[in-house]
Amino acid sequence: MRKVFLFAFILIFVSCKTTSQIRGQEHSKKIINDVITEDDKISLVSEKIEANMIKHRRHFHQYPELSNREFKTSDKIVEILKELGYTPKQGMAKTGVVAVLDSGRPGPTIGLRADIDGLPVTERVDLNFKSVEKTKFLGNEVGVMHACGHDAHIAMLLGAAEAFKELKDELHGKIVFVFQPAEEGPPPGEEGGAELMVKEGLIKEYGIDVMFGQHISSSLDIGKISYRVGGIMAAADRFEIRVKGKQAHGSRPWSGVDPIVTAAQIITGLQTIVSRQIDLTHEPAVISVGKIEGGVRNNIIPENCTIIGTIRTFDPNMQDDIHKRIRRTAESIAASQGATVEVIIDKNCPVTQNNPALTRKMLPALYSAVGEDNVRVIPAITGAEDFSFFALEVPALYYFVGGKDPENPNPGSHHSPDFSIDERGLVSGVKAFLHLTIDYMNIEKP
Ligand SMILES: [Zn+2]
Ligand SMILES: [Zn+2]
Repeated sequence: MRKVFLFAFILIFVSCKTTSQIRGQEHSKKIINDVITEDDKISLVSEKIEANMIKHRRHFHQYPELSNREFKTSDKIVEILKELGYTPKQGMAKTGVVAVLDSGRPGPTIGLRADIDGLPVTERVDLNFKSVEKTKFLGNEVGVMHACGHDAHIAMLLGAAEAFKELKDELHGKIVFVFQPAEEGPPPGEEGGAELMVKEGLIKEYGIDVMFGQHISSSLDIGKISYRVGGIMAAADRFEIRVKGKQAHGSRPWSGVDPIVTAAQIITGLQTIVSRQIDLTHEPAVISVGKIEGGVRNNIIPENCTIIGTIRTFDPNMQDDIHKRIRRTAESIAASQGATVEVIIDKNCPVTQNNPALTRKMLPALYSAVGEDNVRVIPAITGAEDFSFFALEVPALYYFVGGKDPENPNPGSHHSPDFSIDERGLVSGVKAFLHLTIDYMNIEKP
């Protein structure tokens, strides 16, 4: 608010000095343009739209929907975009919404992306816009909550759509606003998310040259932005190792082949891949087993035992190498026991790669958004993000926006029932989108 008064003062000051010479609107417009820089305009517009952003965020927070089921969310986004004068297209990747702002001047086409889905989590935060939504997920009745902050993402992108209407004179080229469903992963057996948007032609149809995406963070103080050059978020792959032995009486193990003992040895063997076999100074990696399943009762050695887990990597070569080592470890240990294995590895999400040249080129824009001292480099994050599918297609930049109240020492973590963000962080996110877009257009315009 303080800034608004400051600029109002500058305007009054300038107006007073020149009032006697004002000869119409054209002239006063020129004076305003001379006095207010592009950065100032972005600040003013961002602060002006803040209240609307918060209103929208609260609406989406109160009515979250699960991945690939964002029907009302999608309708509401369309309604707001239409009120702003856009002609949004609904239904890409099931519930996605895409809108375009064409400046009418030549220049690049920039994609700005927000993910829009909630999670099967029952909210525990005491808010007057708390979610009380319930639905069925994998056969169970669950609460639904925007427990990752995607409500804030929708609000910030709608905020950018509103702000750019006022900043149209600053633009060269086009902006594509991408409201993407199912970032948290579509239900089993369904396609969805960024991968499906790419498959349905988002990048080609709209001619997107570059993409920017952001995530609010409950652990980063408001007013701050964090990023990393190169892989910022991990590739996430799911593995399943099916060990087959020979069923026997528990009292006579020598008459069978025990898949449980074999599985136990495989799990131990997997621990040495990251700790002993790969170059951890290059990039980090994680292999975690999340489930073991085998057997029916105490005195039967079963025929099968299945191990399920996740692999996180930041380098495609290391990723392939680790996959080979998992297969080798499982197959060799099984062979040594007289068992057999089937190893299935599903690549879920690639590494989220921040294009190094683009990231360096856009750093001044992030500095303009929140101040250079508030932009920091972070280590790689072992979580995954399907924005990575866009980053495979075009140069892209993904970063985190602070959503933590600096006074709150224990904000709930993402995906937890206690997750919460400080809405004062939204304005930094919208400023980042505005600066990145306008700076990129100024750099790349013909
Ligand atoms: Zn999430
Ligand atoms: Zn998220």
